[in-house]
Amino acid sequence: MITGIKGMNDILPEEIPAWHFIEARMREVFHAFGFSEIRVPIVEKTELFHRSIGEETDIVEKEMYTFADRNGHSLTLRPEGTASVMRACIEHSLHVKTPVSKLYYVGPMFRYERPQKGRYRQFHQIGAEFIGEASPMADAQLLHMLTCYFRALGIPDVSLQINSLGCRHCRPAYRAALVEFITGHLDALCDDCRRRSTGNPLRVLDCKVEGCRTVCQDAPSVLDYLCPECAAHFDEVRHLLTALNIPFEVNNRMVRGLDYYCRTTFEMVTNRLGAQSAVAAGGRYDGLIASLGGPELPGIGFAIGMERLSLMMGTENIPAPHPDLFLVALGPMARERAFLMLADFQRRGLYAEMDFSGKSMKAQMRQADHLKARLALIMGDDELAENRIQLRHMDSGEQESLPIEGLDALLEERLAQKKD
Ligand code: ATP
Ligand code: MG
Repeated sequence: MITGIKGMNDILPEEIPAWHFIEARMREVFHAFGFSEIRVPIVEKTELFHRSIGEETDIVEKEMYTFADRNGHSLTLRPEGTASVMRACIEHSLHVKTPVSKLYYVGPMFRYERPQKGRYRQFHQIGAEFIGEASPMADAQLLHMLTCYFRALGIPDVSLQINSLGCRHCRPAYRAALVEFITGHLDALCDDCRRRSTGNPLRVLDCKVEGCRTVCQDAPSVLDYLCPECAAHFDEVRHLLTALNIPFEVNNRMVRGLDYYCRTTFEMVTNRLGAQSAVAAGGRYDGLIASLGGPELPGIGFAIGMERLSLMMGTENIPAPHPDLFLVALGPMARERAFLMLADFQRRGLYAEMDFSGKSMKAQMRQADHLKARLALIMGDDELAENRIQLRHMDSGEQESLPIEGLDALLEERLAQKKD
């Protein structure tokens, strides 16, 4: 038997209603905020991720699926979506047509991590990018969209944490203070953090190793180093979130695992998923587009982990679709008649089922029950000879005899009643 790849999961038919629910609410909420979908390839040139995510990051150092194609070009399965979306915006000069772009995407991402609950090697993200707007209103609107989406999914127990990472003017001073602090605690840090302590000291704050976390509790706060512009931006974001009635906490230890963030960063966290506490994350990336060779455009975005969403949602309560009609037929003539009626219902978009294998009446009724059909149409050769048919309301067990003449209108009436 050939099995699937470790950490890459099949999504089985019984799980699909939950995924459809997650995607349907996504489109409803995101469209109300004026976001349009963009679809980008799953594979990109490796260089794109090195340039955007940053060399000294977990993703680039140890999580990417990178391979040479038959021409020897280095390609990578995308570990995240923002880089590809920015590449597409630059390549198609989207900013020329619309100076402000509001885009979203949904699809698989790939990271070579240690698989465990809520952490996989192929996982799925929903992401949104608000490009071309530097105002704190963009930050607040994006966070509003994110909270509306969680509400639409019925997910309680998530809290929004926000922070500011400053900008290229004020971050160097913070970085220097952090390097000084870290240098004094090198012994207590893990190997990765020791190595990154000078190249990428902010990453130490993001380390998941317990010892590093303890050390970081006493690290200097980035918020004490913001320049007046970054401080004003952060104040305004907090003010607008409060005005929108969106609860949040400031977490001055939260940095993000990718290099391109500046100013506002945020995470949606939960205590329901054990160690995998972040279900969504994002931030502002004002220098990113220019650094990829595009125009000087600001941007802010987020990505939501869909597997973590469905783990939190108790998705077993989301119902699978049930047949409107189950056709029960007894006798060879009735079976063919039922088959043609079935085809007619399906052509009109009704969800109808019947048994093809010649089961007994009792077994057919059991099947109708099992599929949770709303109505069963029961017909035998004798009844058909009289041009009549039995209709059974599966919930009440009530049965009525209907003429085949004008049956469609009667069925539509009965089905409309069931929908109420
Ligand atoms: P973590 O801290 O859990 O490793 P991250 O900071 O690497 O997350 P991001 O790159 O910001 O995560 O991705 C955004 C979201 O995507 C996460 O909040 C999470 O819900 C989801 N996610 C990230 N990596 C995985 C994974 N390997 N498996 C499943 N979901 C993931
Ligand atoms: Mg990670």
